[in-house]
Amino acid sequence: MEKIKVTVWNEEREGEDRWQPVQEMYPQGLHSVIADALNKESDITARAALLSDEEQGLTESVLDNTDVLIWWAHGRHADVEDRFAQRVAEYVQRGMGVIFLHSAHRSKPFMRLLGTDGYLCWRDEGERERLWVSDPSHPIAAGLPESFSLEHEEMYGEPFGIPQPEATVFIGWYEGGNVFRSGVTFRRQCGKIFYFQPGHETNETFYNPHIQRVIANAVRWAKPEIRVPARGCPCVERLEKR
Ligand code: ZN
Repeated sequence: MEKIKVTVWNEEREGEDRWQPVQEMYPQGLHSVIADALNKESDITARAALLSDEEQGLTESVLDNTDVLIWWAHGRHADVEDRFAQRVAEYVQRGMGVIFLHSAHRSKPFMRLLGTDGYLCWRDEGERERLWVSDPSHPIAAGLPESFSLEHEEMYGEPFGIPQPEATVFIGWYEGGNVFRSGVTFRRQCGKIFYFQPGHETNETFYNPHIQRVIANAVRWAKPEIRVPARGCPCVERLEKR
């Protein structure tokens, strides 16, 4: 069986000095923790791509060999060149799956695909979050308990500036009182999109087995049903005779 090919994209630049709390939590970068967890799944193979790579890690060769792109970013959305954001959006429309993690709600590909500015409110106090499975029949929720908690997360709160999701798989509740649609799905043309809120870079989130399960489930759900070539808007001959 051919494995699902995943690319975990991170806004990091190779070899850069990271903020100390991030360095301590994710010594090899959080993209490595996400990819390592996925590589333990028998049907998935994952590799990383970084902002400092050729064409910002988003060459056509990389995307042609990616079934599902995972996008983690927090502070460098503006550094991503428009032409590469557009390329990612087009690949999704043509069938590639994409999973936007945490602050990727403000990334250029997310905003392009969903036609939104990704509005939300936030508070970074490392408060407890309880994630509720709000759609237990959804494949992304497979094998998860009714709810689970993360001891430390950044609060992202409603209202969330997104179009009406196809499914709301998770709702997050924070000890500070806010709630959030923490796991939502969309489709754009042939491509499937999952946004998942947990994953602030100083928290242990990506080591959590429930979180790893959600991401692996989402990869399986988002893998392409079909991939179509770049199409444009062709003028075509009529099929029936006059
Ligand atoms: Zn954050």
